[in-house]
Amino acid sequence: MAKRDDKPIERAQNPFNFDISTNEERPPQEYYDRIKAKFAEERDLRLDYRPDGDSQYILDLEGELARYEVDPYGTDFVEREPLTDEVEVLFIGGGFSALLTSARLRQHGVESIRIVERGADVGGTWYWNRYPGIACDVVAYDYLPLLDEMEYVPTRHYAGGEEIYQHCQAIARRYDLYDLAVFQTTVTSTEWNAEESRWHVRTDRGDHMRARFVICANGTLSKPKLARIDGMTSFTGHSFHSSRWDYEYTGQNLENLSDKVVGIIGTGASAVQIIPNLGAAAKELFVFQRTPSSIDVRDDWATDEEWAARLEPGWQAQRRAKIIEAQRRQADRSRRTTLTREEKIRRQENANIDAMMRIHKRIDEIVEDPETAESLKPWYMLMCKRPCFHNDYLPTFNRPNVHLVDTHGKGITQIAPEGPVFEGRTYPLDLLIYATGFEVQKTGIYNRIIGEGGLDLDDKYGEGIRTLVGIHTHGFPNLFIMGGYQASFQFNLTDLLQVQGDHIANCIDHVRSGGFDIIDCTEEAEEQWVQEVIEHRGKTTRNQECTPGYYNFEGQENRRQDGNYNGGFPAYIDHIGRLEATFDQNFVLTKA
Ligand code: NDP
Repeated sequence: MAKRDDKPIERAQNPFNFDISTNEERPPQEYYDRIKAKFAEERDLRLDYRPDGDSQYILDLEGELARYEVDPYGTDFVEREPLTDEVEVLFIGGGFSALLTSARLRQHGVESIRIVERGADVGGTWYWNRYPGIACDVVAYDYLPLLDEMEYVPTRHYAGGEEIYQHCQAIARRYDLYDLAVFQTTVTSTEWNAEESRWHVRTDRGDHMRARFVICANGTLSKPKLARIDGMTSFTGHSFHSSRWDYEYTGQNLENLSDKVVGIIGTGASAVQIIPNLGAAAKELFVFQRTPSSIDVRDDWATDEEWAARLEPGWQAQRRAKIIEAQRRQADRSRRTTLTREEKIRRQENANIDAMMRIHKRIDEIVEDPETAESLKPWYMLMCKRPCFHNDYLPTFNRPNVHLVDTHGKGITQIAPEGPVFEGRTYPLDLLIYATGFEVQKTGIYNRIIGEGGLDLDDKYGEGIRTLVGIHTHGFPNLFIMGGYQASFQFNLTDLLQVQGDHIANCIDHVRSGGFDIIDCTEEAEEQWVQEVIEHRGKTTRNQECTPGYYNFEGQENRRQDGNYNGGFPAYIDHIGRLEATFDQNFVLTKA
């Protein structure tokens, strides 16, 4: 019988919703304490090697490194005259944030919508990341947005990148977003003009456009970064970043790699999907690992056509409502429990360790060489790093042409003209792929954003991020930020973006229908939210206890308000609901 999406909805959404209410038989506490001590040891080792936090990465890819950011897909550069017109709503970025919100704005009757996008098409993450094996690990029936509106059912339980990219394009077509969109265009400054009550948006194509509302929709992980490695530019082979795949070099099906020695630096979620494909195609593959990812079973299947045919209109909205309801029930259960805070944490941690040890066991069962198996074992709590799901990753290390170079937390620090160097040995390569991740934006903003009174948003945030629900920031009227800090963490990012997009569309509708021109949040509402973020960030020990990575600012101290809201997604939704119910107390609406 065909498989269906019949998992309990709580687990389907977040596989790490540990049930801590049962007190089932478990090993003695000393067993867990020993493992926790090993976690701490591994973390400290990494912090000793890399005390430089975020600055171990090169974020501004300039000079010889600029080529790592060049778009290999939009090869035809489209010449056009600079624009000097005005639109009602302007999105910086054309990924899911812009697409979702535009759909809602259209429903509210907003006609003039422009997407300004660096790539040559919409899609954001799914435009840039086209590496072999790309897919999303969040259930497609939940991850792909607007399935009800688009009357579309994904073809698999976990969708591949190409399908998601095509869905983005379909949304843009369905909501006529291509008409005013400008591609291959990067916003360079966004300035509020108080006399005109308009934003002035300038770009690297000489545009000087005006917009009534600006929405920063430029993603949370969209700018590729490189590890700072001595001798990088001396490498004489070919190299690129995972999000700028050079199919011209590799061949569309990697057929050109059959006589090539390939290396990949990084073993995060991108690399985990890439490596099985490289292992199958390359003459030799060297995987340079600093910290292993956790690899769980990927339970994927083709969508059962009968199941899909029976779905009633509005099925995705109902699924979402159920998921959020389940999260709400879980939060209530956790609040109501009579367990002490310490006991709750202890049980959570023990359940987490059990799950990680199950992942270790799977490695021993699959990976034939015991030394390689040991190297592939992650020693940290699940969710310290993005958990991965793959069925071909671990078996790839049984291939005779695939070699794991375990740098034991040190990482690659030197590259010779022939290839990476580790502990005195040079690994000569034809191709080196950097799967070293992305800059994590403070707010989803890179561009000069100048608000009321000439205040630069970067300067405002210099004292610590200040927003209302991560979306509004006082002194920056008619500006909305999506996917940035101080918003809630949600395993399925598009759920968060949908909640934010709905709220932004409601705000814009409120301004328009009330005959107003300007909306700004009050300083008081902003201050309350900052305090709320600070209070809830105190509830997690992730920063201090986790292995370094981008989830915890590479293990460095950071200001307590400069992060996600940790009060839970249902509480975040409720807060937005309250804001909308008491609009006038939280926002100032004015006529020009
Ligand atoms: P990550 O930032 O997660 O990974 C970067 C990798 O580079 C890490 O393994 C890091 O090691 C390694 N690294 C950095 N410097 C060095 C060095 N000098 N030597 C050796 N290794 C080094 O980036 P990804 O692109 O993999 O993933 C980014 C995010 O994108 C994911 O967390 C996830 O949110 C999303 N994503 C989701 C996917 C999915 O749904 N399956 C697939 C792909 C991405 P260390 O761990 O030690 O820091």
